[in-house]
Amino acid sequence: MGYDVQHWIDGREETGGGSTQPIMDPATGAEVGTLHLGDESTVDRAVQVAADAQKEWAKVSLARRTQILYRMRELMIEHTEEIAAVISREHGKTVGDAKGEIARGLETLEFATSITQDLKGGFSQNVSTGVDAHTLRQPLGVTVGITPFNFPAMVPFWMHPVAIATGNAFILKPSERDPSASNLVARLYQEAGLPEGVFQVVHGGRIVVDALCTHKGVSAVSFVGSTPIAQHVHRVASAAGKRVQALGGANNHAVVMPDANIEFAASQVASGAFGSAGERCMAVPVAVTVGDAHEAFMTAIAAEATRLVVGPGDDPSTDMPPLITPEARERVIRMTDEAEQAGATIVVDGRGLVVEGHENGNFVGPTIITDLAADHPTYTEEVFGPVLVVMHVNNFDEAIELVNSSPFGNGTAIFTDSGHYARRFEDEVQVGMIGINVPIPTPVGYYSFGGWNDSLFGEHHAHGPEGVSFYTRQKAVTTRWPAQNESVESSMSFPTH
Ligand code: NAD
Repeated sequence: MGYDVQHWIDGREETGGGSTQPIMDPATGAEVGTLHLGDESTVDRAVQVAADAQKEWAKVSLARRTQILYRMRELMIEHTEEIAAVISREHGKTVGDAKGEIARGLETLEFATSITQDLKGGFSQNVSTGVDAHTLRQPLGVTVGITPFNFPAMVPFWMHPVAIATGNAFILKPSERDPSASNLVARLYQEAGLPEGVFQVVHGGRIVVDALCTHKGVSAVSFVGSTPIAQHVHRVASAAGKRVQALGGANNHAVVMPDANIEFAASQVASGAFGSAGERCMAVPVAVTVGDAHEAFMTAIAAEATRLVVGPGDDPSTDMPPLITPEARERVIRMTDEAEQAGATIVVDGRGLVVEGHENGNFVGPTIITDLAADHPTYTEEVFGPVLVVMHVNNFDEAIELVNSSPFGNGTAIFTDSGHYARRFEDEVQVGMIGINVPIPTPVGYYSFGGWNDSLFGEHHAHGPEGVSFYTRQKAVTTRWPAQNESVESSMSFPTH
């Protein structure tokens, strides 16, 4: 029933050889479409097409590549409403939030349009007598991106504009939950003039992921998703000799100091905790109140949570949308139950929420939990739902210790008026991305995105300068042009100058 989503290979849709799976609307629980899942043969065909296309694409001038990327940017802007509506239907997020992720994804495309600057090599004249040295950055070949459900446009955009601009072919394996945006992007790349086979989409689950990670024609794998799958992809693809960057899950803490503007901190933490129902890798599921900040913060955050309107993503009055699946909703309810059974206080309880007219949707209301032990799984694990756990500590040093006790290290924030504590915070936390009075410190497209510890496996962060390094490899060239009649005595010593 509904629409059909197929693979995008060699410039057109095809069903491939695998099975199918339903695409669901999280706000209604209804099946809206059918997704064709690939298998090893689908992957093999896509890689062969990509390998052929890449050989020609690498020869295309930087000027022409840049023109295509500029045209792609215009097309993405023209089609933003259409893509946002598709994302909202399949993911559940509000249309405004979907437009926001498209805009953030376009930052990386904009960064990639200046690839002419980033691919400049170095040159040194006369490094030895009559000898020059220069460097080249060259593409890797066929690159792969495996992406999560929570940002079906933005996260793939962290990868493919940079991979393509640097002369690679790119195969996207998006989440099975919200696959349609990727096919729309493929059509727009075609309209922008990108040669067939340079950008392709193969849908599927573990079979396709493992086939991509081990295919001999693939050079590099970028992954974004949960930590266990990031570890799996990093292990399998590394063992097969691929370059790998695998970004994993998170459990981001926001520290609220007593000198902070508490009303401001509460409104920012609320947007971090409950925006997109907490289904963001840079969400704020933990607030750490320091000393006297606790009481005022609890009052302010409870007021923020209780005023939020929960509803379907296509209703303009909705603040907080449904979760992605019934299983995700059940997990949030179970983890709240378990915290309560362990003696925690449920300050705001979203478990019983029903959205009228959407009784089969995956809705749960904003939930705030406090008085929870620091070793309880509802605090230590990634809940990935609209649940804020508030931990209370006595001083700044205890706050740092708590932040650093998490095995994850994606993002963190501090709310304070003190430059002294802000400076110590950014120095002492073992986390990749830090916000000072900013709750979701997602770096702009021309910086690089990446966490530490169990939030990233591999050496490179995503997009920005590290993206260029990831998708290219360097050659160092040493050049000498002796005169036709120049004669030099041969020497067996190691040359020094
Ligand atoms: P997921 O790990 O379940 O899926 C991610 C990708 O892996 C999907 O394409 C999926 O098809 C594939 N996959 C799933 N199970 C697999 C398996 N057993 N073997 C091989 N491949 C498999 O993640 P999700 O639920 O789609 O997304 C949410 C997670 O992603 C959260 O943990 C969130 O923190 C994380 N995330 C991290 C970042 C970051 O930048 N670090 C950004 C966005 C999301």
